[in-house]
Amino acid sequence: MSRKVSARMVAAYLREIGIDYIPLPPRNADTHAQVPVSVAKPEPRDSTKSETLDDIRKELLECRGCPLCSGRRTVVFGVGNPNARLMFVGEGPGQEEDRQGEPFVGAAGQRLNQWIVRIGLARKDVYIANIVKCRPPGNRAPLPEEAAACLPYLRRQIRAIRPEMICALGSVAMQYLLDTSEKITRVRGKWRQFEGVPLLPTFHPAYILRNQTREAEVFADFDQLADRLGLR
Ligand code: URA
Repeated sequence: MSRKVSARMVAAYLREIGIDYIPLPPRNADTHAQVPVSVAKPEPRDSTKSETLDDIRKELLECRGCPLCSGRRTVVFGVGNPNARLMFVGEGPGQEEDRQGEPFVGAAGQRLNQWIVRIGLARKDVYIANIVKCRPPGNRAPLPEEAAACLPYLRRQIRAIRPEMICALGSVAMQYLLDTSEKITRVRGKWRQFEGVPLLPTFHPAYILRNQTREAEVFADFDQLADRLGLR
């Protein structure tokens, strides 16, 4: 024999066993509403995260792992939120970055900042680093041996930050991170992985400064980042 159990009966039973208050969501709450997402993780996700960015920075300041060290004014380590959910990786410091010790501070950096703001974040919310930390002479792309010497530091930065996603800026960063010779025009906007972290390649801001008509593709790529972060 089945007996229908009414809400009143459940309430009476709960009162009997000493429960007289159950927090419930407001009646007309939209259960599908987006929970506000913070741009920084509230705390490290994993207590095994032993190495800090400062540990890595200290080591890097002494680095003589490739010939680029002899031409540097500063080691351009990286900048931003150590708990960032989103990390950008560029190619290597230019003249201004070498002078100021910070990545993406020139005209390309300003364009990158605009893209970040466009998806509702600020530069301080994300983390920005490069494949190589010392300026290649004449702003040339880093050589494979220079990238190979520096990549372990970037890997350690990524492990310390544990971003939810990485955006590779330009073909050089994309090719070294993914160990591929694919063209950025084919790969941009397509999700890949770097050490288990989702990675989205897009155009380098310096390229967009010279090829303004391709910026719409970058906007589409940044929209993908924003969607995946739950920002829209
Ligand atoms: N371009 C890069 O790839 N990185 C910088 O830090 C500046 C310009």
